[in-house]
Amino acid sequence: MTLLRFDRVGKRYASGREALSEVSFELAEGEMAFVTGHSGAGKSTLLKLIHLTEVPTRGAVLFGERNLARLRGRKVALHRREIGVVFQDHRLLADRSIADNVALPLILRGLPRAAIAKRVRHALEQVGLGDRERALPVQLSAGEQQRVGIARALVGEPRLLLADEPTGNLDPTLAAEILALLEALPARGTSVLIASHDLALLKRMRKRVLVLDHGRLVDDIAPEDLAA
Ligand code: ADP
Ligand code: ADP
Repeated sequence: MTLLRFDRVGKRYASGREALSEVSFELAEGEMAFVTGHSGAGKSTLLKLIHLTEVPTRGAVLFGERNLARLRGRKVALHRREIGVVFQDHRLLADRSIADNVALPLILRGLPRAAIAKRVRHALEQVGLGDRERALPVQLSAGEQQRVGIARALVGEPRLLLADEPTGNLDPTLAAEILALLEALPARGTSVLIASHDLALLKRMRKRVLVLDHGRLVDDIAPEDLAA
């Protein structure tokens, strides 16, 4: 089953900059893939079109049966619930506990307290931080903070997890830990799309790699062809 489809997508910013052009690809349900390319190649823009932080100027982005160009208002919010986002700088609230940070998306959604507590505990256990609920972000290491960011992205049980350079600030050992966590998601029913310019990491991961160059999709490399 296809989860995500880009059909000849173009994005031109108001500045006139063409960030993406004629980009077409599909991501299957339960697939994990990377998007790579030089700085400014259009990786972040591609992820933003899926999360509807930006809208395409040409072509169509389809999520399941949904044409994202047609969504307005509340339907945009409902769409975003199906997508978890992990940022490089994790963006945790410094004055809130780990549990409160992870709970935030569910609080915004108006879920009952008990349901929130249960799902927060589950998400933190999933990233190996079940015992740090009451800690503040500053009391955690960089790798642990990034894991909290992942728990927050997973707590809403998204169909797709987007991560923009999720290992950018981490040393190689911590980066490998984070990737191992993300790698386990497809088996649990969450597809994963990761923007990364870390070539060494891409080679180690042996996953599909979409290559952007100046906004064009110039390669779509299958895992078995990655060694070359
Ligand atoms: P990457 O994530 O691969 O570094 P981006 O998607 O961030 O690439 O950027 C692609 C191109 O679009 C770059 O030239 C960038 O400067 C430009 N760009 C990104 N966001 C905006 C914006 N909000 N307004 C204008 N230009 C932008
Ligand atoms: P990233 O590539 O991870 O999004 P950047 O530092 O390139 O990080 O961009 C930070 C923010 O500035 C983003 O929201 C992006 O859309 C915006 N941005 C990037 N390039 C430009 C640009 N040339 N003009 C205006 N906004 C930009």
